[in-house]
This record gives sequence, C-alpha cells and structure tokens, in this order.
Amino acid sequence: MKREGLFGGTFNPVHLGHLRTALEVMEGFGLDHVHFIPAATPPHKEKEALASDTDRSAMLTLAIEGTAGFSVSDAEMKRSGRSYTIDTVRQMNQKASASTQCFLIVGLDAFLEIDTWKDYAALFEAISFIVMSRPGEGEPFGDTAFTGIGEHIKQTVSSGYAFNKEENGFFHETLQPVYLFSTTPLGISATAIRRLVKQGRSIRYLVPESVFAYISDKRLYA
Ligand code: ATP
Repeated sequence: MKREGLFGGTFNPVHLGHLRTALEVMEGFGLDHVHFIPAATPPHKEKEALASDTDRSAMLTLAIEGTAGFSVSDAEMKRSGRSYTIDTVRQMNQKASASTQCFLIVGLDAFLEIDTWKDYAALFEAISFIVMSRPGEGEPFGDTAFTGIGEHIKQTVSSGYAFNKEENGFFHETLQPVYLFSTTPLGISATAIRRLVKQGRSIRYLVPESVFAYISDKRLYA
C-alpha cells in the first residue's frame, strides 16, 4: 500500500516551518510522497501581499529541490476559481489507485478553523488527517500542544470520535481517523516573514537560501 501526504497552503512564501514539519511527518508516518499544493486564490486570506501563483510555486520548487519524496502539485493553481480543499481531496482520491492511502496534513492552527472550510464535514468522510503541532507566537509549547482538540472534533465534526492513546489519534466507526503528530516546534510564519521584509529586516535562515535569494531578487513583499 502506497502512502501519500497532501499538504495544502498559501505558501506566501514557503518557509522552514513548512519544510521541516512536512519532512518529519513523511518520516514519522512512512509516507512515500508529500505533495505541496499551493492554493490559487485562498478563500481565507486577503489578496493583498499575496505573491503571484507563479512566484509562490517557483519558490516551492526551489525549496524542495533535492528532497526525495517531496513534490509540488499544480492541482489548485490549474483549476479556475477559488481553491477549496474538498475539491482537491476528491480530485486526488480519484487519481490515486486503490492501493494508495492519502493523508491530509494540516497545522493545528488551520485544523482548529476547519469548520470554516467549504463542506468540511465531507472531508472527514474522504480522507485521514495528520494534525501537526504548531507553536503560536509567544505561547508556551509542550505536552499541552493538542489540548482542546478532542472537544473541537467532537463538537464540530462528530461526538463519535474517540481518542486512541496507542495510535495517538481520534477514531470513528464510519469517519476517517485524525492523527496527532508533534513536530519540532518552529515558530515561523509567512506573516512574520512578510512583515520583516516590509520593515527592511533580514529573513535569512527562516526560509531556504534559494527562497531568500528569490525574494531579494524579485523584491517580493517589499
Ligand atoms: P500565514 O502566516 O500567511 O497565514 P502560514 O505561515 O500559516 O501563513 P500557510 O501557507 O498558511 O503558512 O500554511 C500551510 C499549512 O502549514 C497550514 O496547515 C499551517 O498550519 C501549516 N504551518 C505553517 N507554518 C507552520 C509551522 N511553523 N509549524 C507547523 N505547521 C505550520
């Protein structure tokens, strides 16, 4: 059975927080691939300060170069209109063979807003989740990273989800599992990176060197 991870986001720009955590998930879950799927027009973000599709995709391609198993998917950028995860998951599920299991990789912050996503209930029928820990700015971080997630799942998705300690995930009789995964805490966000550029400060070591050079050359986010 092949195992594939789908990792969607704005990637405006991609940073080491995305890359390191995705690598840890790939190793931790024995995934064969992680597909980075940049959103075309993100439903949740204002378009201001959004680099073009071409630039965001080019930065992703530079960022993953040389990492076996990582690839960039144009599934959302190729579709017309806004990008919705449910459409991407259905499309990927259709393309994947019967012997492939797909996982949707999301950060905890994104997962806690999942009830604002289009047809979010259908997502839990369609695909297993891997929720990665993510430190909030200035917040303490540790064993309590996932506190409250169980209540959230039960209230917004289904009260039938139950936690399984051995598998470190929530399981349901008919819906797909939601696995929790603690990654190295990297308090890096694209918002902070854009802010630093705007202030004329360096973003070196927050993004891969190739992405740093791309942003400098093209004067993105300035
Ligand atoms: P922005 O600051 O513009 O909102 P972002 O840094 O959150 O951007 P996105 O492209 O929106 O980046 O994130 C894509 C996915 O990656 C989301 O599921 C998000 O939770 C996850 N993610 C982003 N940064 C990290 C991080 N440092 N650690 C763990 N997960 C992360």
